[in-house]
Amino acid sequence: MEQPLDILAFGAHPDDIELCCGGTLILLANRGYRVGAADLTRGELGTRGTEEIRAKESLAASKILRVCVRENLGIPDGHIENNQENLLRVIRLLRQYRPRLVLVHHWEERHYDHVHASHLVAEACYYSGLAKIETGQESFRPFRALFYAGRVAFHPSFIVDISETFAEKMQAVRAHRSQFHRGVEEETAVEPETFISTPYALEVFETKARYYGAMIGAKFGEPFAMREAIELRDPVAFFREFPDTRLPHLFPSP
Ligand SMILES: [Zn+2]
Repeated sequence: MEQPLDILAFGAHPDDIELCCGGTLILLANRGYRVGAADLTRGELGTRGTEEIRAKESLAASKILRVCVRENLGIPDGHIENNQENLLRVIRLLRQYRPRLVLVHHWEERHYDHVHASHLVAEACYYSGLAKIETGQESFRPFRALFYAGRVAFHPSFIVDISETFAEKMQAVRAHRSQFHRGVEEETAVEPETFISTPYALEVFETKARYYGAMIGAKFGEPFAMREAIELRDPVAFFREFPDTRLPHLFPSP
């Protein structure tokens, strides 16, 4: 049996993971954890790009994310239904990779694919632990599902400091070349412009990361929500790890 993943991120479309939790995944891969990513759809309804182009871009982005696994469940874009067939697809993946933690869209989102993905994956995490749901695999339940932010803001349960990986995260985002702005010379008039293909969108992503970073005194951050409260065994030891001030970290002496 292959070694379990420490963390597996799910996204509705091929660029969601990079945008919403890419900095955290790179940070964890740098720490030596086994990190995986799974896209539910091939993003074929996207205004720009094709299924084939998006698959190639995903591969390039995965190398930057340094994930050891990138799967695509092939659920039709725009039809992420929370039905038995799709639940079983996600359950099979969870039982195959047995991740300790799962990341997925927050349940309140603007795009309904993201809302449905959130419910589908969270439910699959629960039902995957029931032995009588048969897939020919051993039952397995991830310890926790963590929900990441897209367009709709929420009060985070915690924020990950991604200052050291923000630049690489944005490289992984830009690897989805058909979707995002590539610079004035390269931008062709062939494909229609969308919100995320404008230079403004890249500024928005940066502003968001700076906003959540500011909430913890870091340059850049990615927020996560949990349904359950976080249990601490030793609050003194937990908080000892953090510096009293972030200033030396932000402005290191030359
Ligand atoms: Zn999406």
